[in-house]
Amino acid sequence: MKKINTIIYGATGSVGSSTLSIINKNKKIINVEGITCNSNLEKLVTIAKSYNVKKIGFNENSLKKNNNLNLNKYEIFNDTKNFHKLISKKTDVIIFAISGLSSFDLFLKILKSGKKIGIANKECIISFGKKIITVSKKYNTEIIPLDSEHNSIYQLLKYNFGKYKSLTITATGGPFINFNKQQLNNVTLKQAIKHPVWNMGKKISIDSATMMNKAFEMIEAKFLFNLKDHEINSIIHPQAIVHALVNYENGVSTAILNRPDMKIPISSLFFKFNHSLSNQLNSVFDGDTKLEFFQIDEKRFPAIRIGYNVMKQGGLMPHVFNYLNEILVNLFIKGKIRFTDIVSLNEINIEKVFNKNSNISNPKYNDIKDINNWIDHHLIINK
Ligand code: NDP
Ligand code: MG
Repeated sequence: MKKINTIIYGATGSVGSSTLSIINKNKKIINVEGITCNSNLEKLVTIAKSYNVKKIGFNENSLKKNNNLNLNKYEIFNDTKNFHKLISKKTDVIIFAISGLSSFDLFLKILKSGKKIGIANKECIISFGKKIITVSKKYNTEIIPLDSEHNSIYQLLKYNFGKYKSLTITATGGPFINFNKQQLNNVTLKQAIKHPVWNMGKKISIDSATMMNKAFEMIEAKFLFNLKDHEINSIIHPQAIVHALVNYENGVSTAILNRPDMKIPISSLFFKFNHSLSNQLNSVFDGDTKLEFFQIDEKRFPAIRIGYNVMKQGGLMPHVFNYLNEILVNLFIKGKIRFTDIVSLNEINIEKVFNKNSNISNPKYNDIKDINNWIDHHLIINK
């Protein structure tokens, strides 16, 4: 049987690891054709050895001189600019799990590959919005969302129950769901990167704690499923067993229940719905399981309100929201701003950006570059 040739962009990260753990149990079916990282070359080479990978890509040029790692065994792709060259005629599946917006260019090239792509990275979807869907359709590229909420919707929509009224995505509420405003002001980096349910990379963990992640995910859903603004909303569900609901006109909602584990959405890239993952996962009702659902308190978590408005305005605004967040999260990581400033400064800066620049309904790549440049020179970090 022909193996499924797979390329994993961001193989050294959290989504990369979940992908590899599926492949590890299915080496007879899946071949890892290529892997990439930013700078964690040691981990990349360890993965390459375990999975017999021939093509490796890393971003930092200086790493090339590393003599200890015996790099001449591999076909090397240096710099994200060259990462698209890992894709070959025989590639079947691509996993795009590089974090953040810096892999923007690569993302656009991959979308033109005509392959099946599992997209974990939400930042690029938010910034490129409609363009992603247009380009992927034009090049016959199949997009499978890996973000758990969107993957749940993707699976649910395979059951054709007719037109739905709206989609709901759930949020665990993050580590600070019961914090008051005062406590939120004093949150430390260590607290913010420890998510109660998911084990994820630093940036998305902070986004979950501020609830920016849920704001982003509503925008992501709007683009992926071509929704009107009133067709998407979010609620708190601390147990993270229901990831999304599809709501119908007759008052019925459908959901898929599964424990919070990225291996489930990722496995949809390789297998049919009911394929066993070699008993790696517990079923939902092993032991006591409580399912709770609450409204989000937008006073303590204003990211949801701001995000909803950004989604409605559209155009360049989702990108600006996203880009500002990336800058502000980095400032929080460096200890330059408080946790609550990540969201409040975003709102202040968005207002300033669009007081001085007009919104553009279908932004081109250069519009995005120009606005980034403007923001880099005009960012306010003192209120
Ligand atoms: P991690 O921080 O754990 O991993 C990021 C990966 O991207 C690493 O392999 C890293 O390499 C690589 N990388 C980072 N920057 C660059 C760059 N400039 N050029 C090339 N490679 C780069 O992130 P996650 O795995 O948690 O998340 C990945 C994406 O998936 C994010 O966009 C996130 O929002 C999304 N996502 C994640 C979920 C999760 O459960 N973790 C759930 C849903 C979505 P290195 O190791 O060398 O730094
Ligand atoms: Mg998610």
